[in-house]
Amino acid sequence: MKKVLSDMYFLGRKCIFCDKYGLYKLKNKKVKCKHCKKYYSLNKLQRDMQIIYYFYLEISARKAAHEINLDYSVVHRKFMQFRKLIGEHCNNEVKKLNGELEIDESYFGGKRKGMRGRGAKNKTIVFGILERKGQIYTKIVENVSAETLMQEIQNKTKKWSVFYTDGWRSYASLEQYGKHNIIDHDKELVDVNHNHTNWIEGFWSFAKERFHKYHGISKTNYPLYIKEMEFRFNNLAGSFLGRFIQIHLINIAIYKKAIYFIKKMVH
Ligand SMILES: [Zn+2]
Repeated sequence: MKKVLSDMYFLGRKCIFCDKYGLYKLKNKKVKCKHCKKYYSLNKLQRDMQIIYYFYLEISARKAAHEINLDYSVVHRKFMQFRKLIGEHCNNEVKKLNGELEIDESYFGGKRKGMRGRGAKNKTIVFGILERKGQIYTKIVENVSAETLMQEIQNKTKKWSVFYTDGWRSYASLEQYGKHNIIDHDKELVDVNHNHTNWIEGFWSFAKERFHKYHGISKTNYPLYIKEMEFRFNNLAGSFLGRFIQIHLINIAIYKKAIYFIKKMVH
């Protein structure tokens, strides 16, 4: 722990905003930078970094609160803030997907299995577009009508892409928008000609497995959790923490050092 505390940012020697030496202490353990005039609390900085790291590790707010010795409500509130940030970040992404695209919808929540469209009461319908070798985009939709789904496809994809869907009738007019490949799940020949939607199905499993862990997400919070899954899936392995800290602490130039710091702190 001594080594950790010698870190120049977290001891308040170097400014986290402008990266210069020259901080002086204020009351309440706050420090102020004589160059950029910004001030912040070192305790809060350390605490926030720990919370970020537990969020990254997908540890529940309850367990994280216990380990950091904080109130559950404080950690939970932070986790929800992170999800909002991630959601905003994802929604600001304007890039249209193109190339080979897998398209599908999936039902989240609710106990009863039902028919598509019908029987979906109490379930949340998530629509997804996955660019092969690229990113997934998700959107919660009210229904799976052709009008709804085609609108999403036109908003989020480039015309004349190559689309892979199953035989759901709402996708019928896709052939006017690009090359449309329909997958017949009854046939085993899916891998010939790349004709499959395995990757987006992989995303549904990825998301559902995690949703299962957070028992009892209220329906109003579904959009936030779905975006969190989208972001996690699009930033697997090492890139998640870096990108998350970047969007979370957009004006902190030292996020790489922050990662180093919090990793030391937790291990
Ligand atoms: Zn400064």
